[in-house]
Amino acid sequence: MLKVEHIGIAVKDFTTSIPLFETLLNTNCYKQEAVESEKVITAFLQQGESKIELLQSTDAEGVIAKFIEKKGEGIHHIAFETEDIYAEMERLKNAGFTLLNEKPKQGADNKLVCFLHPKNTNGVLVELCMERK
Ligand code: ZN
Repeated sequence: MLKVEHIGIAVKDFTTSIPLFETLLNTNCYKQEAVESEKVITAFLQQGESKIELLQSTDAEGVIAKFIEKKGEGIHHIAFETEDIYAEMERLKNAGFTLLNEKPKQGADNKLVCFLHPKNTNGVLVELCMERK
């Protein structure tokens, strides 16, 4: 693992949350991107070498809508950048972690991503990511 690439935060409404985080971090949101497979729109703010990824559901049945319904708005996942996501997935699988997808999938921000089941990570949803080349 190279670093914390970003922290994902589930929010109800970009129209209030983006300005809130822009003021908080004193920087502008530089990108919004839909991830249709996840029924979510993402908004990114850079902070040093890490990012904040705001997640807003596009569908009442989407994972983010369900998360907010259950737990309220807040931290949804922590994403770690990997040099080689395939090798890291193999290593973690062999170490007993449960991968939520068997192959890396297309995430936002030009990334390949894989999530780990929070049951093996003290309740933290962990995302592995790697820049697509
Ligand atoms: Zn993420």
